[in-house]
Order: sequence, then structure tokens, then C-alpha cells
Amino acid sequence: MNWLKAFNPSDIAGGMKLTGKRFRQVLFTANRRKVPMHFVAEYPEVKVKLAPRYRGRLTMIKDEQGEIKCVCCLACEKICPTQVITIIKGKKEGRKMPFPTRYDFEMERCIFCEFCVESCGFDSIILNHQFELATYNREDFSLGMEGSENMFENSAVGKFSVAE
Ligand code: SF4
Ligand code: SF4
Repeated sequence: MNWLKAFNPSDIAGGMKLTGKRFRQVLFTANRRKVPMHFVAEYPEVKVKLAPRYRGRLTMIKDEQGEIKCVCCLACEKICPTQVITIIKGKKEGRKMPFPTRYDFEMERCIFCEFCVESCGFDSIILNHQFELATYNREDFSLGMEGSENMFENSAVGKFSVAE
């Protein structure tokens, strides 16, 4: 019978060994010393530690002088599979390179593929570590360069969820 083949004695023994180890830890270590054994994060009280390469919300980067790094090459806009980035190229006094007068991002259709970041040759954008991106209003998903919901800071909707 096929289902019998799924019962590999060495797998079962391995599983039981791990279960026994955890049981002993809790019974003899945690309970006696009153040390809490936590295998999960107590979110949202405790901030979750994310993997360094976690893909959160698209964010624009400024340089040390506070200047927007984006030079409007439009690579991110063109490569985005869901077409959620719209850039308007402009000029800024005292700046040789083109300057984005608008950088609009419709987050509700972003699939966090990171193609935009990979295509940027100027390290002007990242996917940050913000993961709590739910909101009650669709308008909150429309980000630009100005206003409270902007491309430089974390979205207000997820202020409690930014990992360190
Ligand atoms: S992560 Fe992907 S879907 Fe989101 S903006 Fe970048 S390219 Fe577009
Ligand atoms: S790829 Fe980088 S430099 Fe080019 S438009 Fe996008 S953010 Fe700006």
C-alpha cells in the first residue's frame, strides 16, 4: 500500500527525538527556572526581526546632502510588471542631472518583485522593511513625493511594524 511507504521509521524517530528534546527543555529548564521559552515572537508587542533581504514598501533614497538620488532614467518605471510607478522628469536649479518632479507609486498593485530596485543603476530606491501595509482607505496606497504618505518615510499605516 502506498500510504504505508510514507511511514519511514527513521523520519518518525527523528521527529520524536526533536519533540522529546523540546519537551525536556520546557519541563526541566523553562518551568523550573521560570524562564519563558518562546519560539514565536509576541507580535505586535515585540517587533519582529525580519530577514535582511525582506521586501517591504518601495522607498526613495536621499544622499548625505539630503538630495534625491533618482536621476529619472525611467528604468524602474519601464521594468515594473504591474506598471505602478509613474515618473515625471524635470529640472532643479543647481543640479546637472534630471530631477523627478513627480514619482508616483500605487502600492496596492505592487507585487514586491524588486525588479525596480534591481534595475536602478543609481541605488535610488529600496524595498524597506515595512510589512504591515494594510489600510482602510484605498487612497493610502497612493504615494508620491509630498504629503504625509510619501516615498521617503514609512507609511503611516504601518508605523508599528518597522523592524529594526
Ligand atoms: S516591486 Fe515590482 S511590482 Fe513593486 S514597484 Fe517594484 S517592480 Fe513594480
Ligand atoms: S531606476 Fe532609479 S534612477 Fe532610474 S528612475 Fe528609477 S529610481 Fe530613478
